[in-house]
Amino acid sequence: MSAAASSTQPRIVIAGGGLAGLSLALALKKALADGIDVVMCDPALKRDPHGDKRSYAIAAAARRMLEALGVWNQVADRAQPILDMVITDSRLQDPVRPTFLTFAGEVDGNEPFAHMITAGDLTAALIDACRESGVNLRPEGVKGFAVQGARTDVTLAGGEVLPAALLVAADGGRSRLREQAGIGWISWPYRQSGIVATIVHERDHEGRAVEHFLPSGPFAILPLKAEVQADGSLKHRSSIVWTERSDHVAALLESHPEDLLSELERRFGLQLGKLSFETKPQAYPLSFGVARRFVAERLALLGDAAHVIHPIAGQGLNLGLHDAAALAEIVTDAMRLGMDPGGADVLDGYERARRTDITAMGMVTDGLNRLFSNDVLPVRLIRDLGLGLVDRMPGLKRFFIREAAGLTGREPPRLLRGESL
Ligand SMILES: Cc1cc2nc3c(=O)[nH]c(=O)nc-3n(C[C@H](O)[C@H](O)[C@H](O)COP(=O)(O)OP(=O)(O)OC[C@H]3O[C@@H](n4cnc5c(N)ncnc54)[C@H](O)[C@@H]3O)c2cc1C
Repeated sequence: MSAAASSTQPRIVIAGGGLAGLSLALALKKALADGIDVVMCDPALKRDPHGDKRSYAIAAAARRMLEALGVWNQVADRAQPILDMVITDSRLQDPVRPTFLTFAGEVDGNEPFAHMITAGDLTAALIDACRESGVNLRPEGVKGFAVQGARTDVTLAGGEVLPAALLVAADGGRSRLREQAGIGWISWPYRQSGIVATIVHERDHEGRAVEHFLPSGPFAILPLKAEVQADGSLKHRSSIVWTERSDHVAALLESHPEDLLSELERRFGLQLGKLSFETKPQAYPLSFGVARRFVAERLALLGDAAHVIHPIAGQGLNLGLHDAAALAEIVTDAMRLGMDPGGADVLDGYERARRTDITAMGMVTDGLNRLFSNDVLPVRLIRDLGLGLVDRMPGLKRFFIREAAGLTGREPPRLLRGESL
């Protein structure tokens, strides 16, 4: 008899301790406690999470989930609420950037539609919470798996085999486990790269996010929490996502630091005063990808392993956190009824719960990028007319801001409503 079959606790192995995988591990363990053995495998668990200097916009729904999981209160003082948002559409050489659309950043009372936080802070808090709640953290990769009837044998990089009821592949956009499961991947490149960096500026951003639609792609300025320095003064900071044509990126990043800074200033503007780079700019090639199925026998895809979208709306990770909320709820409810957490009914429920939302968000972000990343005059005129009209329609603006906050759509999973499982 296998270890899984002889154990009283069903085991779920999660391959990939990015923010999506960690959130799922924590949600399952908090809900099912001793009723489940959650094993989280990722070689990256050996590294200091604070080494990851990227920052993310966490939508209100995802923040409610982190709050329900007891993680948000650990990071709230380092998260910057987005208080309003300004959208412009212009060319780089234009002397002024007319504002076409503004949003006040609140949904449901005083709740901001999103907060900015560094990946390092959030990952560290999730790892601590996973450890405290009894998730089995293994700093090792998953090499492969073999389904054997009512279990899947998961092989770790060092050769150890863990029998499990379910393997969750949360191993990122280039998921090897997705490939091994024979799940097809529909994808196309954008021929754009997203350059990310943290920028220090002289003046306070006052919680404002700015998105300049430029012909090479969107240039987003996202406010970060100011840091108190040794002399008591504040270091004002923002995160940028600078989309450029991929064939320009290498030359740009290898250019002299002063030339790179002046290219930054041309896009960022000088409204926040003098600028400097706090982190070294890093480029990520952008593509679209969605798995043909999100499940296979005793396997579920989660986060970027299931879908990769354009960062134009800052929604990629939020979709992954939504996956985690949905899968945790479906597995928890099934296990409370005595069902097999890796059974076909449970996995089909997850596929049905996520397919529409993911396809819709993928298409919207793809369409927005095509509409805005060009300099064709009639297209510019129509989109600017559209933006201007939206700006005059408070009801539509409220809909868009609730959509960005992840608060629209069919009945969201309980965690995204801030309820525990
Ligand atoms: C420029 C840019 C800006 C973005 N901005 C935002 C934003 O503001 N808001 C937002 O919501 N999204 C944003 N995104 C999207 C976001 O970065 C991703 O959607 C998110 O990081 C995916 O998280 P994940 O946990 O699914 O995967 P990942 O973060 O890719 O984690 C995968 C993990 O799997 C591990 N792994 C790989 N192979 C194995 C294996 N065989 N076994 C075990 N572990 C393995 C890796 O070590 C890694 O830790 C942005 C993306 C880009 C490119």
